[in-house]
Amino acid sequence: MSKHICREKECEEELEELLKTFEEIEVIASSLQALVKVELSGYPIISNVSNMEELISAAKQELERRGIEVEGVSKEAIVRGEAEGTGGLLSLVIRRALYKKVKGSLPPDAPASPCPVCGLYPIAGVLKRVKGAIFSMDVVELHCLCGYSATIEQFHCPVCGNRDKQAFDLYVAGDVTYRACMRCGHVIGIAKEGVEGERLPIAIAYEISRFA
Ligand SMILES: [Zn+2]
Ligand SMILES: [Zn+2]
Repeated sequence: MSKHICREKECEEELEELLKTFEEIEVIASSLQALVKVELSGYPIISNVSNMEELISAAKQELERRGIEVEGVSKEAIVRGEAEGTGGLLSLVIRRALYKKVKGSLPPDAPASPCPVCGLYPIAGVLKRVKGAIFSMDVVELHCLCGYSATIEQFHCPVCGNRDKQAFDLYVAGDVTYRACMRCGHVIGIAKEGVEGERLPIAIAYEISRFA
């Protein structure tokens, strides 16, 4: 993954470390999914979790067992996706656990953005060529940090709906094109077809924080 994202050794090493942490987060999320109590009544589903405090303290314990201390994170910050530092890891554990819990029961017409599961706006996608009846077209397969994915048109800002191809600033690094919407400022990293999507939002979030 780091080969697709980074151009410098330092970036590659840091990102590899982060992706190792992500493997641990997946283990914790899998172990917590049975604990999630939620009803699928309105989006984002994360706001319908009835035992968020319990989840937070279970996730905290699991992170602490692995030497990651989390302090002073509110339930509201987790639900809104605004927790920072190690709180961000806690937020990721809860989002991944929630997605694992509900993925089999999502309606096929669930919206693409913001994420119907965890409420975040997408920051990562993979370019895909799909065959139509007559023409092939390029679309973007969005990947949320929680694991949810959905497809949108190639030039379509997932925040403000901008579809004007001229109204995006582009910046290419590695195999990813970063597209900043000139109307709302939202940045999304879109990888070439073939790049694995599951860990992509982690890597892109890291890269965006590097040049932010
Ligand atoms: Zn999500
Ligand atoms: Zn926009």
